[in-house]
Amino acid sequence: MSATAPVRAAASPDPGSAAALRRLRAGAGRRWLLWGVLSLTVVGLLAIAVWLARGHEIEQVQRALERDSLEAVQVLRERLGRNLQDLHGLGAAPADPEAWSAGAARLLETHREWLRLEWRGAALEPRAARDSPFHTPLPAEVREAMAPELQRLCQQASVQGEAIYAPPSFVLRAGGLGREVMTLCLPLQDGARTQGFVLASYTLDELLRLLPTSLTRGQAVAFTELDGTRLALHGAARRGARLFVAQQTLDLPGAPMLLRLEGGRPLPDVFPNVLTALVTLLSMALLTALGLLARDIRRRQQAEAELAEALAFRKAMEDSLITGLRARDLQGRITYVNPAFCAMVGYTPQELIGQSTPAPYWPPERAHEYGARQALRLSGQAAAPREGVETEFMRKDGTHFPVLIFETPLITAQGQHSGWMGAVVDMTAQRRAEESSRASLERLQASARLATVGEMASLMSHELNQPLAAIASYASGSLNLLPAGAGGDAATARELRTALERIAEQAGRAGRVIHSVRELVRQRSTAPQAVAPRALVDAVLPLVQLQARKLGASVRVQVAPELPAVWCEPTMIEQVLLNLARNGLQAMAEVPGERLLTLQARLPTAPAGPALLEFGVADTGTGMDAPVVERLFTPFFTTKPEGMGLGLSLCRTVIEQHGGTLVHAPNLPRGTLFRFTLAVADAP
Ligand code: ADP
Repeated sequence: MSATAPVRAAASPDPGSAAALRRLRAGAGRRWLLWGVLSLTVVGLLAIAVWLARGHEIEQVQRALERDSLEAVQVLRERLGRNLQDLHGLGAAPADPEAWSAGAARLLETHREWLRLEWRGAALEPRAARDSPFHTPLPAEVREAMAPELQRLCQQASVQGEAIYAPPSFVLRAGGLGREVMTLCLPLQDGARTQGFVLASYTLDELLRLLPTSLTRGQAVAFTELDGTRLALHGAARRGARLFVAQQTLDLPGAPMLLRLEGGRPLPDVFPNVLTALVTLLSMALLTALGLLARDIRRRQQAEAELAEALAFRKAMEDSLITGLRARDLQGRITYVNPAFCAMVGYTPQELIGQSTPAPYWPPERAHEYGARQALRLSGQAAAPREGVETEFMRKDGTHFPVLIFETPLITAQGQHSGWMGAVVDMTAQRRAEESSRASLERLQASARLATVGEMASLMSHELNQPLAAIASYASGSLNLLPAGAGGDAATARELRTALERIAEQAGRAGRVIHSVRELVRQRSTAPQAVAPRALVDAVLPLVQLQARKLGASVRVQVAPELPAVWCEPTMIEQVLLNLARNGLQAMAEVPGERLLTLQARLPTAPAGPALLEFGVADTGTGMDAPVVERLFTPFFTTKPEGMGLGLSLCRTVIEQHGGTLVHAPNLPRGTLFRFTLAVADAP
C-alpha cells in the first residue's frame, strides 16, 4: 500500500455505507410516491380547468340565447306597437263602412298576423268587418261565443282609454287543427267620449312568424302562458346533446305572456375555444416541463443507482480487506473502522467510533507515548512516514500484538484536510514466521555441526579402535606374563593382576562404546530383517548408559531371552529407542529423587490380530502436561532450548511405516511411558 498518497474520500468519512444504501433505496420509494401525487395533482388541475372552461362555454351559449329572446320580445313589441298605430289610422278614417272596409282590406294585405278586423259602434254594434285573405275566417259561432268576453274587454278598454288584449283562446279549425287567437280591442275616443271600437283578432302562430329568421333559425320560439302552458310554437329546436331555454315576459295589457326560446346546441367540445386552447397550451407546457423533470429524475436515479453500486462495491471491498482501516478526524476521534480492524482489536465498531485518545486498543503502559505522537501528528508537524510505523496494539482481551501503521491525510472532494486515514497491518503472523525461520536456520546450523561431529566421531572411533585394541592385548599379554603364584611379593602380584584385568576390561568397554558410536554413524543396510529384541536394545545400550551416567540416572533393561525376533529395519528402530531413551533421560534431568530409565520388551498382555511384540521406554521424569501432549508429535515442537522438535514425529513415522503404533501414557507414580509395537518375525 502506498503510504503517503492522500486518500480521497467523501466530504464526511461516512462509516455507514450500508445505511447510505438503505437511505438511497428508501428515497427511491418515496420519490415514486411523490411522482404519483404530482401526476394526480396535475391531472386533477387539468380536469378542473377543462370543466371550468366548459362551464364558461355553456354560460356563453345560454347568454346568447337570452339575448335572442330579448331581441325577439323587442321585435314583437315594436310590431304590435306599429299595428296599434295602423289600427288608430284606420279608426280615424271617415265613418263610412264601405270606405273602412276598403281600408281594412288594404291593411290585411300586409298583416298576415291578423285574422279579422271589425269596426263597432259605441254600443259595440257591428258597423263593418273584414276577414284576412290568407286565413280561413273564424266561424260565426266562435265569434258569438267570444262576444261576451269581447264586450267585457271593450268596456274595460273604454274605461281605461287604451287598447287591451284579451287572453288568447284556442279556436278549432276544420280538419281537427286549431289555433290560438288573441283579440285586441282599441277604443276610438273623441276626448273622453268613446265613439266606437276597432277589434283585431291576432293569430299567435302568425305573430311568431314575424320574427326575423336570424332568431328562429335552429331555435323554437313559443308563446306560453305564465304557468308554462304552451300556446303557439314556431320553428324547431336544432337537435343537440343539450337543450338551452330562455324566456322573457311579453307584458301585453290584459294578456301577459311568456316568449320562450329553445335552442338545441351541441355540447361545447372539450377544447372549443381560446380559453380552453390556452388551458391546453398551458397543460402542454406543464406536461413538457413534467417530461423534462422526469428525464432529469431518471438521470438522477441512474446516477443514484451507480452511486449505490459504487457504495456497495466500496463496502464489499472494505469488508473483504485483511488490512485494518481506521479513520480519525482532526480532533483525533475515530470516525470509521472496517471489519478487519475490528477483528484485529476485538472491539465492535460501536465501541470504537467516536472514541478519542487514549484509544481503547492502546496498551495502557504506552498510552502516554502514543498520545504524544498523535498530538504531534494532529498538529501537522509530523510528516506521514512513507514506510509506516511499527508499534504495538492491545486486543480487548488484553493480549498485545505488533502492528504496522500507514497513516495518510484524509482529503475531501473539496480538497479539505478532514482527518487521517490509517491502514493497520497485524504483524503477529509475520513475526511468528520470522521467528520460526530464524529457529529453523539455527537448527540447520546445529544439524550441520552435528553432521560434522558425526563424521569426526566416526573418524575418532576408527582411530581409537587400534590403540584400544593394543591396550587390551598388551593388558592380556601382561597378564599372561605374570607368573601365577611366582615368588616375590604375592600380594603385589595379585594387585597387579587385578589392575591389569581392570585395564583390559575398561579397554574392552571403551571399544564397545566406540563400536556402537561407529555403528550408529555408519551407513548400514536398511533392509528389513528378523532381529532379536535384545540385540536392538543392546545396540543402543552403551550410548544410553553414557548419557545416563552423566545425569546420575540408572538404566534397567527388562528383555526376556526367550522373546521371538521382530521383523524390522534395525537401524531405524535403534534410532527410535535411542530417541525415546534420550527424551526420558532429559525429562529426569531436573527432578530430585530416584532417576530410573527402563527399557523393556515383552509380549503384549492382550494380543490382538497378528503376533506383536511391545517395546517400552519408561522414565521417572517430569511427565507431560496437556499443552505438551496436544502438540507432542507436531514437527518442530519442542520445549527445550536446544531441541529440534523432530524426534517424536520421526519416531512415530518410523513405527507406522513398520505397521506398528507409538503411544504414550503417564508412568506412575512419576514420569512417562512410551510404547510401540513391532510384528513378530516368524510371520513376515
Ligand atoms: P525434542 O526432544 O528435540 O524437543 P521431541 O519431538 O523428541 O523433540 O519432543 C518434543 C517435546 O516433547 C519435548 O520438547 C518435550 O517437551 C516433550 N517430551 C518428549 N518426551 C518426553 C518425556 N519422556 N517426558 C516429558 N516430556 C517429553
